[in-house]
Amino acid sequence: MKIAVMPGDGIGPEVVAQAVKVLRVVAPHAETEEAAIGEAGIQAHGVPLPQPTLELARKADAILFGSVGVADEADIPRERRPGTGLLQLREALTLYANFRPAYMFPELIGASTLRPEVVDGLDIVIVRELNGDVYFGQPRGFETNEAGERVGFNTMRYSESEVERVARAAFEAARRRRGKLCSVDKANVLEASQLWREVVTRVGRDYKDVELSHLFVDAASMMLMRRPKQFDVIVTGNIFGDILSDAAAMLTGSIGMLPSASLGYNRKGLYEPVHGSAPDIAGKDIANPLAAILSLAMMLRESFEMEAAASRVEKSVRAVLAAGYRTADIQQEGTQCIGTRDMGDAVVEALRKQAA
Ligand code: NAD
Repeated sequence: MKIAVMPGDGIGPEVVAQAVKVLRVVAPHAETEEAAIGEAGIQAHGVPLPQPTLELARKADAILFGSVGVADEADIPRERRPGTGLLQLREALTLYANFRPAYMFPELIGASTLRPEVVDGLDIVIVRELNGDVYFGQPRGFETNEAGERVGFNTMRYSESEVERVARAAFEAARRRRGKLCSVDKANVLEASQLWREVVTRVGRDYKDVELSHLFVDAASMMLMRRPKQFDVIVTGNIFGDILSDAAAMLTGSIGMLPSASLGYNRKGLYEPVHGSAPDIAGKDIANPLAAILSLAMMLRESFEMEAAASRVEKSVRAVLAAGYRTADIQQEGTQCIGTRDMGDAVVEALRKQAA
């Protein structure tokens, strides 16, 4: 088990340190090696994805990732932006399917801004395409129009094979769950989405046991807020998935609870919390490390087929919540607010109790 650990920036190192503590208990034999990425990569090697980091990622079986980003990035050229490091890494490893489960822990129902009956029992997965769309499409850039005004432009672009591989990943996931897949696009307006819908429909013929539906992204965002439990698996493009999965995160109470897995053609995956580097709370020992710890559970399950260890970690997180411990973002009346490190220790303690 060779795991590349990339804490990144902001709260990344704080939350990843807690996940590594948990790893030491559930898989003491795992080898870990740390590498800099994002702003940390720039500080160490002058670029957001340094060569040694990429080499480590290539030889590792899995990557445990924190988050990248600094407070004010508007004036930083794109090639030096921390987030560019992550985009380059996803592309270099062809990690094209990003699985983002949004699961309602019963103990946290009161932390959601939605009414309990809307989110009680929520258990959905958003599969976001990760290697295409406006984030990578060419041409992109700035130009000056005939009126002498600056214009910024990007290209939404998807090839059939890019849609097909992520669609297959989503159909497989739906097959292992409740057998429902909703594909989200904007096919009424965009050609890229029209192709997306055609390809997903065609791939669906190979998965007759999965009930396929389609929604436009505007309707899907409304439905996610109104009746989120109607969904099982949602598959969508890079930009729509980016936005919808943050909205889905809030259904569960806090973005600090949600893990994600980015997978490609083999079992190697990159596992990271859905949240960013949260510069506003970095260094204060108040960030919620549970998304990072749950990302580790996903790693154990998906990259190492350690189902028992993965569920032990998830059970320990639930035990800690049931015992009333909360970080500030999910605090409710009658619970005890603890810091990042103490939350990590509490999960480790719960794991040890389970083993005893
Ligand atoms: P963010 O997710 O970092 O923060 C949004 C809000 O949620 C903030 O108020 C933050 O304090 C809170 N929050 C986030 N994680 C939390 C946690 N674990 N515990 C408690 N509260 C938490 O998003 P943002 O503010 O839009 O972006 C900040 C930086 O992160 C930017 O530089 C952005 O580019 C970057 N970012 C990186 C990733 C990534 O590395 N995958 C993802 C999203 C954003």
